[in-house]
Amino acid sequence: MPHRRLQTAESLLTAGLVCPACGYSLVGLRGPIIQCPECGTTCDINHIIKHARIDWFRNSQYQMLSRPPMVISAGGLICLLLAVAFGLNPVTGSLVSFIACITILIWTIMLAIIMIREGDVEILWLLILLHVVYVGFVVLVLGAMITFVIMAIRVVDAIGQNQTASAVVAAATAIAACGIGMGSLMALRALDRYVGRRCIRRDILRDHVEY
Ligand SMILES: [Zn+2]
Repeated sequence: MPHRRLQTAESLLTAGLVCPACGYSLVGLRGPIIQCPECGTTCDINHIIKHARIDWFRNSQYQMLSRPPMVISAGGLICLLLAVAFGLNPVTGSLVSFIACITILIWTIMLAIIMIREGDVEILWLLILLHVVYVGFVVLVLGAMITFVIMAIRVVDAIGQNQTASAVVAAATAIAACGIGMGSLMALRALDRYVGRRCIRRDILRDHVEY
């Protein structure tokens, strides 16, 4: 049963596999049904796995792949915040360009290291997906949150000035922003989890772990 073996090994790698009775770690023990070495409880590994959390973000390959998109989205966000906060005058303009150049340089070096060390088609695909996740988070989720706050303030203003029509429009926009933000957050989290599972699967295939 290759699927069952894969599933078992997958959660062993997450180190979340413990005896349900005493919490003793069952990592490294072989077989679908095992006796807990600590308390003797019979443990059904597949049952435990079904209910275990998969902490994909702890996987080292996932962490390595998520660094470049994290750098590029953080750099972009800092530049955007600087431009919004201080306006684009010559001083902030050169500061923003400097930060953008440094960000792109670090990002390129990180990508080059990953592609030289691990480079294959799947890694490239997972990297693209993680860029969608991180940049999407900044643009869609943070963007929706900011829009929501601005629109909420506008609703209060419009009510204060007895402008019912503007208040309704701003409220509708705030609700739409909230929906877009929540929807994007769920979709991006699902995508993130997919990449995490693929990373864990790569580890398993590479190490030929068999249980
Ligand atoms: Zn136990």
